[in-house]
Amino acid sequence: MSSVIRAVDWIDSQAHRMIDLVERWANINSASHNINGLERMAVALADAFSPLGGQLKLIDLVPHQIIDSSGHVVQKPLGRALSVIKRPDAPMRVFLGIHMDTVYGLDQPFQTSQRLGASTLRGPGVADAKSGIVVMLLALEALERSDVADFIGWEVLINPDEELGSPGSTPLLAQCAKRNDIGFLFEPTLADGSLASQRKGSGNFAIVVRGRAAHAGREFHVGRNAITAMADLITQLDALNGWFEGLTINVAQVEGGGQMNMVPDLAICRLNVRYVDVQQETVVQSKIEEIVGEIDKRSGIGAALHGGFTAPPKPFDEPTGQLLEHVADCGRELGIDVTWRSTGGVCDGNRLAAAGLPNVDTMGARGGDIHSPNEYLLIESLTERAKLSALLLMKFASGQMRWPMKNNTQL
Ligand SMILES: [Zn+2]
Repeated sequence: MSSVIRAVDWIDSQAHRMIDLVERWANINSASHNINGLERMAVALADAFSPLGGQLKLIDLVPHQIIDSSGHVVQKPLGRALSVIKRPDAPMRVFLGIHMDTVYGLDQPFQTSQRLGASTLRGPGVADAKSGIVVMLLALEALERSDVADFIGWEVLINPDEELGSPGSTPLLAQCAKRNDIGFLFEPTLADGSLASQRKGSGNFAIVVRGRAAHAGREFHVGRNAITAMADLITQLDALNGWFEGLTINVAQVEGGGQMNMVPDLAICRLNVRYVDVQQETVVQSKIEEIVGEIDKRSGIGAALHGGFTAPPKPFDEPTGQLLEHVADCGRELGIDVTWRSTGGVCDGNRLAAAGLPNVDTMGARGGDIHSPNEYLLIESLTERAKLSALLLMKFASGQMRWPMKNNTQL
């Protein structure tokens, strides 16, 4: 039996360790703004990845700028990212990444994982993406156990801010994209088990409208109502839905106002924009600026736009298609049916592609109901997906699969 087959099959013997790791890591609250939890997670991950023998470091990120509920720009600290680099001088370099943060804050009831029979684990982040970290770890362990590992170098980045749109780690992802030939992200598969091909782009905006406070009874006419101005603004923004094919504008949150006897002088709205074509960014941005600018000109009203586009669309281009074909080829050898389709969801795969790295971004486990208190993982997919990634890495390492390399001195 070849060392590749032995190393891939070895993953089956690790099934119990894999599910234990997912449970343990899911029980650490690592919400994007829970710095203590993220630090615990980063230390646990450093312990798990250090036996692989790469150069390991924890990297501080610049704080995240947000608009607080008084309408001011404030800095929020982010957790640290874990980087591990092995054999950077190898002829082919592969990037592997996923995030350690989740969407479940400390104030939510969904804090621990729970087995539902033999096949399912429910818990915060069990699919998105703690299981993905475990799948990635085991694939690398299997690679390192084989005798073909020397041909490829690899680089791991586990970031703590993906669920916020990777505000602090985007520059790190761009550097990774430059240094590597191909990339794999271990986001969960789509709910039907397929991988993501094309992805929409995304932008997050906040709009702050300020008016003039006044007594609602004595001096109503002196006041300038920030909420009604915001309502007008929101109606105009909402009307942009479908302006281009695939363009959506989700007005996600509104804050403002207070006492019944006071004309409100502050309203804040937060919205998310999704779109298909990168060319639409400037057009949509100027349209939003125009609408905000019109409100800003009203007497006694000020309106300011914050935020911007954080993830360009990920096109289904030829390199992405080829890489997906390679994944499907490995799937066929292992008896795993690999299919793909487009999605409106965005992830760091968008950012890597924008920085020039062909990547498949749904190499993680199968599960569903992510970002909800019913999030679950299908346990059998842990070994299944780790074997898929391990075989892929070893095919590239052994030269059975080829890829045009950036610093191509060998071919
Ligand atoms: Zn995710």
